[in-house]
Amino acid sequence: MMIAKVIVDIPVKETDRPFDYKIPLEFESFIQPGMRVLVPFGPMKRLGFILSIETQSEIKNLKSISQVIDPTPVLTKELLSLGKWLSTETLCPRLFAYSAMLPAVLKGNYKKMVRINDQVSLAREFPTLLDTLLNKPEMEWTELLKKEPEQSDSLNAAMKKGFISIIQWIKNDRRTYKKIRYIATSLSKDELIDVTSKLDKRSLKQKQVLEYFINQEPHLKVEISDILKRLNVGRSTLKQLVKKGFLDETTEEVYRDPYADKEIERTTSLSLTTAQKNALAPIQESIRSQSHEVFLCHGVTGSGKTEIYLQAIEKILNMGKEAIVLVPEIALTPQMVHRFKGRFGDEVAVLHSGLSQGEKYDEWRKIHEGAVHVVVGARSAIFAPFKNLGLIIIDEEHETSYKQEEQPRYHARDVAIFRGKYHQCPVVLGSATPSLESYARAKKGVYHLIQLLERVNQRSLPEVQLVDMREELRSNNHSMFSKQLFERLEDRLEKKEQSVLFLNRRGYSTFVMCRDCGYVVQCPHCDISLTYHRKQGMLKCHYCGHQEPYPSQCPECTSHHLRYFGTGTQRVEEELTKVLPEARVIRMDVDTTQRKGSHEKLLKAFGEGKADILLGTQMIAKGLDFPKVTLVGVLAADAMLHLPDFRSSEKTFQLLTQVSGRAGRDQLPGEVIIQSYSTEHYSIIHASYHDYHSFYDQEMQMRYRHHYPPFYYLALITLSHPQVTKVVDIAEKIAGHLKKGLSSDAQILGPTSSAIPRIKDRYRYQCMVKYKREPNLLALLKRIQEHYPTGTKNDDLKITIDLNPFIMM
Ligand code: ADP
Ligand code: ZN
Ligand code: ZN
Repeated sequence: MMIAKVIVDIPVKETDRPFDYKIPLEFESFIQPGMRVLVPFGPMKRLGFILSIETQSEIKNLKSISQVIDPTPVLTKELLSLGKWLSTETLCPRLFAYSAMLPAVLKGNYKKMVRINDQVSLAREFPTLLDTLLNKPEMEWTELLKKEPEQSDSLNAAMKKGFISIIQWIKNDRRTYKKIRYIATSLSKDELIDVTSKLDKRSLKQKQVLEYFINQEPHLKVEISDILKRLNVGRSTLKQLVKKGFLDETTEEVYRDPYADKEIERTTSLSLTTAQKNALAPIQESIRSQSHEVFLCHGVTGSGKTEIYLQAIEKILNMGKEAIVLVPEIALTPQMVHRFKGRFGDEVAVLHSGLSQGEKYDEWRKIHEGAVHVVVGARSAIFAPFKNLGLIIIDEEHETSYKQEEQPRYHARDVAIFRGKYHQCPVVLGSATPSLESYARAKKGVYHLIQLLERVNQRSLPEVQLVDMREELRSNNHSMFSKQLFERLEDRLEKKEQSVLFLNRRGYSTFVMCRDCGYVVQCPHCDISLTYHRKQGMLKCHYCGHQEPYPSQCPECTSHHLRYFGTGTQRVEEELTKVLPEARVIRMDVDTTQRKGSHEKLLKAFGEGKADILLGTQMIAKGLDFPKVTLVGVLAADAMLHLPDFRSSEKTFQLLTQVSGRAGRDQLPGEVIIQSYSTEHYSIIHASYHDYHSFYDQEMQMRYRHHYPPFYYLALITLSHPQVTKVVDIAEKIAGHLKKGLSSDAQILGPTSSAIPRIKDRYRYQCMVKYKREPNLLALLKRIQEHYPTGTKNDDLKITIDLNPFIMM
């Protein structure tokens, strides 16, 4: 007998282990680990992943697998073991780990169906309901409730009595393939002429279609949608011709191609500078000897890192192997994609959040079916199901978006290293501003450090000028532009050069304050101020979605002197048009880039010189390479310096360095103006000199003093519950367990209330563990997780455990 060990799609803790199922004879010949199956679980049919196939089981009376969904495994052997590792390291159910590796369309998508258990009783007590159910045997539960709401009482009653039950059924993924329909003919030209002449005189349209084929040599198949448009005929015309046997219809399955209509110019390798050659050599050596090593490529902006990646990938392709390139979501601009597609064409799949689910699925399938050998994508592309990986690159490795903030709470860097070890291939981390963790590891020799400290062809890094905005106020300038920045903007307008204005929005919202009593309007459900959205005249909470109209008076003191503070891109744009009316401005923020493709359109327009100033948020900080940009202005450099996060200095330094790197990338020299209210802060000063090493030294001292990473590891346990007493009580118990279970070297901070103490009416408390080596920690945390069941109902306790957290709030 053959047995399959299956992880079943029921996200409850008790089921986070494989279950045994019998493999029916008819599946034996092809069933493999990594395939998805449908299995009975209680009264339901659920999706499952086969972990392994065995010959015996300790359990008697095994149920059988009902259906095998995939013809080939969707998870490779490597991914199966990666999932197991992820689930241990991040304390998440294995099911979540596997689901994270697959495109959304392959995840369980269930229908709830009504099943009749006892027709006789149903006929006696609920005859109308029985009628409905018999009329439509495949009735979906929600559909039934919607169509016949008056039946919901009898439904519930019949269910309580056991006359019917609700079974779950997985929707199959029939509609996930894109098909193209073609029309063709197997008749020869003469035959076509013959049948055309015999057509009824009134069948003009049919004649037209046949004539099209007569004039076409040879008789290729044509897309139906194409011919309908071209000849302006209807679908029925074609159908009649098919019926008569003159034409044949065929269907072919195709990959959706999100880049199909883009002209991408092909490029060839540049001849490398000496610095680039020296950087590439050790990576090539690791590729050649097929040995795993992690490289940290610290290269200033514009030092030619991307060209090094491209040439390393070329080697990999020549060896018949595959490469993964991760870039941050916001850097997945068309510019970046074009550089990879331009070099490797159809060998490249692209994965990012801007694609539809179908497009994402097709990009994934190209990888799975071996149709491409390179993937360029955001975080989750690290799970690309390649079987013969030769290289993994993580660009901008310091980006916090590489950490997933929901289960599995993994960092793409750790997954990359797991896969690099498995395939014995190099992992290259690249950045102009490496994370402190990575740089410290490189200094210790754990990673191989590669440095590129100059821009390609000795182009100089732009000169940076710091402007103290407090001084501006003192000299009576109340505008959001300092005198210096305004003069430079005018200057660029005259010279017809371009400028980029960057506004750091994070932690810098437009809140509404009472000028009499100082009250700031807060969300009634979350302890956080509401953000003013001017267009709709509404105040919105960015955590729970609560919204209310702009108040006419202060809720605290009834004063009418309310005003909003903070600067949004809209306000900057308005002020720009006031002070520089002749400037053409493109604004890029979440509001102007909501529609698909708008991001690309705006950038293209700017690249073609259709605007003088590009004004935007974080999304313009990275990856842009516009030769005519000679001025970068940063409006509020310190906006995130004061967030309750030990990485706030590091993030400020990184962001300022990235933004400055947008200036002077070509022949024209660049200039940067940074406006700030904290010009004395070391992260801002070092950024203004492009001085990573001094920043690193100073920040490391701070981390050392306060016991933060990379000197200590962190684990953050966050609890939430609608009752504050309950949260405090459990948080204290957990802190007690931690103190008892860990060594005296570990520090347990808290419980304290979180930086945002309440979200959606739930109170939030947290404990933080700082530690160096605690072999028991994972097991202890797992016991805590199991001891406090966290349900899905709103009034249940929720516990999240985050190892190496990036969000402290
Ligand atoms: P980074 O990724 O480090 O920011 P890029 O790879 O984008 O740097 O290179 C910056 C600019 O220099 C790009 O416009 C690129 O085309 C150009 N460049 C890179 N390497 C070379 C080279 N060897 N010769 C000429 N130009 C180069
Ligand atoms: Zn007031
Ligand atoms: Zn809220």
